[in-house]
Formats: sequence, C-alpha cells, structure tokens
Amino acid sequence: MTDHYCVLGNPVAHSRSPAIHAQFAAQSGQDVVYEALLAPLEGFADTVHGFIAAGGKGANVTVPFKEEAFRLSNRLSARAERAGAVNTLTFTADEIAGDNTDGAGLVRDIEANLGFPLAGKRILLLGAGGAARGVIAPLLACKPAGLTIANRSADKAQALAEQFSDIAAVDAGNFAKTAGSRFDVIINATSASLAGEALPLPAGIFAPGSLAYDMMYGKGETPFLALARAQGAAHLADGLGMLVEQAAEAFLVWRGVRPDSRPVLAALRTQLAA
Ligand code: NDP
Repeated sequence: MTDHYCVLGNPVAHSRSPAIHAQFAAQSGQDVVYEALLAPLEGFADTVHGFIAAGGKGANVTVPFKEEAFRLSNRLSARAERAGAVNTLTFTADEIAGDNTDGAGLVRDIEANLGFPLAGKRILLLGAGGAARGVIAPLLACKPAGLTIANRSADKAQALAEQFSDIAAVDAGNFAKTAGSRFDVIINATSASLAGEALPLPAGIFAPGSLAYDMMYGKGETPFLALARAQGAAHLADGLGMLVEQAAEAFLVWRGVRPDSRPVLAALRTQLAA
C-alpha cells in the first residue's frame, strides 16, 4: 500500500520537497507519494488532522508553522525539544511525533558534502530566528573551538546563547561585536538574503581558508556570499545542500532508509542554474 506524506507551509507551491522525496522514493524502492499542501495561516492544526484522517503517515513543516508543529506534537525528539521547533511530523494511531532535521541537515552538508569538518573550528552563526535556534545544538555537538551568535537585535542572540549555555559557553552580540575576531565558518541564518540585503559585517572576520555558508539558496550568488567572496572567504556554499540533507534525514526518520542525497542535490543544482 502506498504511504502518503506531504510538506505543509504557506506559501508552499514553490517547495522543492515533493521533487526531492520523489527521487528518494524511486531510488530506494519505497512505495510513497509526497505532495505540497497549503495550510491556511489560521488552519494549520485542522490541515494536519485532515491529512491524518485521510491516512497520511507524516509531514514536513515549513514557514511559518514550525513552532505550531512543535506545540501540536504529543511527543518530541530530543533535538526538536532543543530546537523549540518541528520540521518533521510522524503520525501513528495514537500520536503525533515531532522531530527537527534542519540541524542534522546543515551539519551533514558542511561535513560530508563540502568536506569541511567542524571540530576545532571557530564558528560564527548570523541570526537568532527559528533556523538559527534549530542548528545550535547540532553545531555544538561537532565540538567546535567556539560558537558566536551575532544578530541585528543583540538581545535575541544573547537569549539564545543563554538557552544553550548548559552545552557550551556561547558568545553573543550584534554584528559590530564580531569586529577584531576571525572565524573559520560563518553561517548566515538570517533572512536578509531573502530581501536581497547584505549584512553589515565588519571587515577581516573571515579567517584564511574559511567557509561562508548561506542557508538561503536560489539562482545566482546571494548578497551574503557576494560579501564573503569580497572579504576573502575561501569556500562559498548556499543552503541547497542543507535542504536536501534535512529531507534525507526526514526520509530516514519515516522509512528507516537513508537515501543517497548526492545525485538528488546534483539534479536540483542543475535545475536551479537553468
Ligand atoms: P526568522 O524569521 O525566524 O528569523 C529571521 C532572522 O533574520 C532574525 O535573526 C532577524 O533578525 C534576521 N533578519 C531579518 N532581516 C534582516 C536584515 N535585513 N538584516 C539583518 N538581519 C535580518 O527566519 P528563519 O530563521 O526561519 O529563516 C532564516 C533563513 O534561513 C531564511 O532565509 C530561510 O529561507 C533559511 N532557511 C533555510 C533552510 C534550508 O534548508 N536551506 C532551512 C530553514 C531556513 P532580528 O532578530 O533582528 O529580527
């Protein structure tokens, strides 16, 4: 029997998740279909319950519902609990289980796909919204030399650092506070690139050999990656690999099979460039 999954968002028509999961299913011989489902802004829970009633087995959750999905879950994985947000729901007869695969997806993209081990590295995370929160614990689990969070609103960065202080000491402040420091990995988890805006980052923060990673992806270079290139970052990456890897991790959660993400990422990259 075919199992049904979906991605829930608003908007959602642009989502690449159906195409990614279709390729995972074909590759692994799993009998699943995966669709994009638009949930009304005030109707997320109803849409989830409707999908469950129709026999749905699981759902990915995207903007703006990840925190609502967290609250709707009857059981949370440790990483979802830490993230305070859920991007992967699994439905069984008596529960809605919430997980978060965003952080695992980011780390896998950086370490496995880009070949950039994070242990011992000085990491700067830009942003203090949902995406930033979801990746902090997975980044700290890689044992970096240090993690700094910088955000336009410094108080939000400080609050986040405090929340994770039981794992490791995390520096926090506004963008200007990074002046005089150097980082091996700088990750943009702000939505500034969505608006086509560059961040006001001080000069000299990219260490020699550093990686600049923008969670945003799209056609052409993002403003953050253009700035990183101009400031001498050695490696540049957008968030397409994170997107595919968080999907692969969700597929593993649901089906118990880790798909081969590389051909899927390569195909998506070709499509995006066309
Ligand atoms: P949120 O709305 O939760 O957070 C937005 C963050 O961006 C805040 O830290 C905010 O700062 C900051 N910000 C917004 N505009 C500006 C600006 N003009 N200048 C400086 N800072 C700004 O968004 P998310 O955390 O959910 O998403 C962030 C990004 O990550 C998005 O681009 C999203 O597409 C991407 N993403 C990619 C994924 C992938 O798989 N590749 C997965 C998840 C997210 P302040 O607190 O001061 O308002």
